[in-house]
Amino acid sequence: METTVTTTPAVLILLGPPGAGKGTQARLLEQEFGLVQLSTGDLLRAAVAEGTEAGKQAKAVMEAGKLVSDDIVIAILRDRVAQADCARGVILDGFPRTTVQAEALDTMLAETGQSVNAAISLAVEDDAMVQRISGRFTCAKCGEGYHDTFKPPKTPGVCDKCGSTEMTRRADDNAETVASRLAAYHEQTEPLIAYYDARGVLRTVDAMQGIDKVADEMDGIVRDVMK
Ligand code: AMP
Repeated sequence: METTVTTTPAVLILLGPPGAGKGTQARLLEQEFGLVQLSTGDLLRAAVAEGTEAGKQAKAVMEAGKLVSDDIVIAILRDRVAQADCARGVILDGFPRTTVQAEALDTMLAETGQSVNAAISLAVEDDAMVQRISGRFTCAKCGEGYHDTFKPPKTPGVCDKCGSTEMTRRADDNAETVASRLAAYHEQTEPLIAYYDARGVLRTVDAMQGIDKVADEMDGIVRDVMK
């Protein structure tokens, strides 16, 4: 099926608790549609690693599984979205996470005549989260995500995509922090489902299904909104 891309860049939001598969699905959509995945979690981890002022302020908050302040996250996102590679469209992975961030995004997009095309909610049961999160790891070189049970590399310890043998596990992917991250999701992020539903752009996918099945449904939704 041909996909006709609109001249206005597409803005897709992936909503869902930690471990729902937002990063995995965002990477698949990025390859398929030429969009850019913007993960505020990745941008914040980079800021922490670089030791920037924002990174210094975010570090302890992230380690505790709480949400970084809206001001810091909105500023980081605003800078990244303005870069040239985002011209065709973006998949926001992990942003917005509060109503303040959602409103800031709407204002930011309105400045260039844009709006959110779809907010895709990845629905998962809380019980599945700990297992999903505690088993995951990432290739340190290319960023491909893996899971001990659900998506192991074809050759153990070797990245399928780039052949690197350097894998990393996130510091906040542990049972204690996951509980705070889930609580933050329910209290601060879940209300965004109603926010986007009220604006007519909410789509929901059952993310308890396997990665491929979820990817197929996401693909259908994105083709539909980018027509
Ligand atoms: P993630 O990689 O999306 O799971 O995010 C990891 C951590 O970064 C979260 O637990 C928060 O501490 C922080 N973070 C990422 N995105 C946001 C956001 N939009 N608002 C506030 N904090 C965020």
